[in-house]
Amino acid sequence: MTRLLIENATIVTLDDDGTIYPGAAILIEEGVIAAIGPGAALATADERMDAGGGVVMPGLYNAHTHAAMTFARGYAEDLPLDRWFNERIWRLESALTPEMVYWGTLAAIVEMVRGGVVGFADHYFHMDQVVRAVTESGMRANLAWAVFGSPAEEEVGITIPLTVEFVRRTQGAAGGRLTASLGPHSPYQCPDSFLARTAAVAVREGMGIHIHASETAEQVRQSIATFDMSPIELLSHRGLFETHTILAHAIHANDWDLDTLATKDVNVVQCPSTHLRYGMGVTRVPDMLARGVNVALGTDGAGSSAALNLWRELRLAVLTQRQAHEDATLLGGAVPLRMAAPNGARALGFWKAGTLAPGYAADLIVVDTMATHFQPVHDVVAALIWCTEPADVRNVMVAGRWLMRDRALLTVNEGEVMAGFRGALETMLGRPLSQFREYTGKPVNQA
Ligand SMILES: [Zn+2]
Repeated sequence: MTRLLIENATIVTLDDDGTIYPGAAILIEEGVIAAIGPGAALATADERMDAGGGVVMPGLYNAHTHAAMTFARGYAEDLPLDRWFNERIWRLESALTPEMVYWGTLAAIVEMVRGGVVGFADHYFHMDQVVRAVTESGMRANLAWAVFGSPAEEEVGITIPLTVEFVRRTQGAAGGRLTASLGPHSPYQCPDSFLARTAAVAVREGMGIHIHASETAEQVRQSIATFDMSPIELLSHRGLFETHTILAHAIHANDWDLDTLATKDVNVVQCPSTHLRYGMGVTRVPDMLARGVNVALGTDGAGSSAALNLWRELRLAVLTQRQAHEDATLLGGAVPLRMAAPNGARALGFWKAGTLAPGYAADLIVVDTMATHFQPVHDVVAALIWCTEPADVRNVMVAGRWLMRDRALLTVNEGEVMAGFRGALETMLGRPLSQFREYTGKPVNQA
């Protein structure tokens, strides 16, 4: 049994009391935090690490992404959502290969680990490849195989029974670092009856759901015109909130929607870079938090956000609200860090992670605060929120295992990943493209 002691650190726990321990230590045993605080320094340990006066805090959780879409970074710029999908992204994805998903995900993992991300909720295709990438890299993840529920779903070779099988074999894999959800795409892309069928299966099998909804005002208008219900109301009525649900976006929500989200285990994920880049609107985050909704942060795919940088997302989450409401007090204190860490871990379904406390998973990062852009540190929480860049993250640990130490990646070979990534991208770009799906923003017509 190895006991690792990290000492000489400012420990930002992100617990409910906002406890911060200056000049303290943290003891890790069997992948779990065994002790924390000034007294922990007295513990006997097999290995000691000097944090050099840096910050030890929970790692960040990217609660909504399409990790493999690193291949689409910069591929579709300056387009409204409908043209972005129809003219660029869904055409490119018609040439997607399992190899692209594997190498694209590993490239995303390199970027995320370097930026202090310890876990992610992924929603994509060929998800067995993502299992491979997560297992090899040592990351934590909640994986959902995206399904559209249309006859064209064979194009990605997946159906409800197959995704149920995927969730069964993935839950608890990789030593408990993996879990999985069902992944119906959205109420604007999946037939109404398919959503209800998915919800029934999820409840019967005790499985979670990961879905997109309410991304634009037009989607809401179309939903009301068709069903006389907002997209969130529709999802609620079809039973999708009767289980643990990751709900990406939820930008245009009315009071009824918010009250409903607050009474269910629905975890709303904000992706501010994407929302801002596509002019999608301002989510009612302060109203959600006031009602007790768990709000987490995601980067969405690199095809829409360009970067898998959660520090940027947490800053933009605050700036969006303050600008929209002309109120400099919104999302103050540690709220942005809480959205990125404890709220993110909870959204992924890892209840004993995201906070540094005894009994919690040793998913942590060491942030170097000595860089010029970081100094002086009058208020460590504010400094972390406003000054941290991915390159300030020095060490990353998931479940007690170092994935990065002194900025060196220990579980993946970055050179090999980039070579594999370039090879898979070349193959994909050489394949013929087709328009196999269409975005209209309208609910799918059901015969
Ligand atoms: Zn998305």
